[in-house]
Amino acid sequence: MLGAMQDWNMVVSHLIDHAAREHGAREHVTRWADGTETRTDWAGIRRDALKMTQALRRLGIGKGDRIATLAMNHSRHLVSWYGAVGVGGVLHTVNPRLFDDQLDYIVNHAEDRVLLYDVAFQPIVDRMRSQWKTVEHYICYDPPAGSDVLGFEDWIGAEDGDTQWTQVAERDPCMLCYTSGTTGNPKGVLYEHRSTVLHAWTGLQPMAFDFDTQSVMLPVVPMFHAASWGLPWAGAMTGVKFVYSAVNEPKVLCDLMDREGVTHSAGVPTVWLAMFQHVDAEKRELPKLKQAVIGGSAAPRFMIERLMKAGIRVAHAWGMTETSPIGTVGAPTHDWDAKTFEQQVDMVQMQGRPTFGVELRTVSLDDMETELPRDGKSSGALQIRGPWIIKRYFKAEEDAARPDGWFDTGDVGIIHPDGTLQLTDRTKDVIKSGGEWISSVELENAAVGHPAVAEAAAVGMPHPRWDERPVLFVVRKAGADCCAQDIIDHLTPQVAKWWLPDAVEFVDDIPHTATGKISKKDLRARFADYRLEADA
Ligand code: AMP
Repeated sequence: MLGAMQDWNMVVSHLIDHAAREHGAREHVTRWADGTETRTDWAGIRRDALKMTQALRRLGIGKGDRIATLAMNHSRHLVSWYGAVGVGGVLHTVNPRLFDDQLDYIVNHAEDRVLLYDVAFQPIVDRMRSQWKTVEHYICYDPPAGSDVLGFEDWIGAEDGDTQWTQVAERDPCMLCYTSGTTGNPKGVLYEHRSTVLHAWTGLQPMAFDFDTQSVMLPVVPMFHAASWGLPWAGAMTGVKFVYSAVNEPKVLCDLMDREGVTHSAGVPTVWLAMFQHVDAEKRELPKLKQAVIGGSAAPRFMIERLMKAGIRVAHAWGMTETSPIGTVGAPTHDWDAKTFEQQVDMVQMQGRPTFGVELRTVSLDDMETELPRDGKSSGALQIRGPWIIKRYFKAEEDAARPDGWFDTGDVGIIHPDGTLQLTDRTKDVIKSGGEWISSVELENAAVGHPAVAEAAAVGMPHPRWDERPVLFVVRKAGADCCAQDIIDHLTPQVAKWWLPDAVEFVDDIPHTATGKISKKDLRARFADYRLEADA
């Protein structure tokens, strides 16, 4: 016997239809790179997205075709999200910070047919155009006056918007994001309509993005990184007002937040760091946010403390491109109010708990098989499964997930008895010393708490007796001074004695990946000849 409820295809066009119908007048404000501002609303986004589907059809673009964007955050970019998906296409958000060989690889691998871009990235387009073999149409979001490139507004302005979305099935693909990865070529993660809608639902809830009809969101996380954490999809469900800045300058962000009544924001830790520096230099207050989502890399303790002291709830989230990206989010637990401020900060420093739909487990790092207890102590390889977790990379011949659905995240963590995840490292970065594991991330987090340290990276270096021993690479803050012993003294009360680095090396810079994370691969390559002496 079947149940007796209606069919309802779980597709992304429902999101924009709902937003336009129920929250049509809620605004989208964009501050452009040239300082000008434009305003539209959810009804306007839908109208323009429909026009874009007409314009795409006129170019012969349809179901399954890849439509790329190379753009910062703004309302025209959002229109393209819904327009590309609305024509049955696959939206491919390209990260403009990728290196040329990666840009070359992913656009060709995706076989993008259309590329929409910000004029700020015109140099990339000019440089790469001859290598991007499949791209037939280039459209600029903000062409300078008098230029002869096709502008987005002119392109969609030729249409009347009187059309329907292309019919698709809920398991059809709708979006493609590449991860820059630590080895080999970037890999494409192909989201589907159903996974996107389910993920948007999970994002809404109080224990995640905490969206309601009054929310005003300024997403600092770029629309080209991990689907902007799903914010542009989730926000449609409750008609969130969006405020975008096409530049990531802290002054611009703070001004917009103050003026537009921003209640929610989301970004990687460096965003908040830049914001602190700005408000300190200008002697102004942090914007009056209700919630800040921090993810992408571990949120340092001082950052959490400062935001919480300013009355801002910190939702520390963990996820990856392969997980759409929400895996876990930190939210107050039932006994939150009984905790001291220090205990609350301890809690927020961990990566939170899985939202409904996500299952987590840790397995032994030695055999990658034996499941570990959720005891708050055992640290192991983190695996995940659920309806918005990757099964197979785009065009790959084999599944990325195991036959039982578990996907190996490449992260190392501890699961506490209440389900809270505490991330301790990446499997490739964890340091094995005398058969025991040392967390490079914990060493780094402790080191950046030193007032003279701007950035720190711990790497396991070959050691004749212990296999590997930690070496800490440190970039000093401009004008600050400290020596290796100062750093060791600072670390000593915070980590086990045998975790203390064998050496502290001061460097001018630490290499980063295109998504702004420390690239240990490049750091290791730079110090390939580094040798530690055997101890007595
Ligand atoms: P990406 O796919 O580029 O978003 O990178 C995902 C990776 O970022 C994860 O596998 C983690 O290693 C790291 N990451 C994401 N969120 C956090 C977090 N809150 N704390 C520590 N690492 C994180």
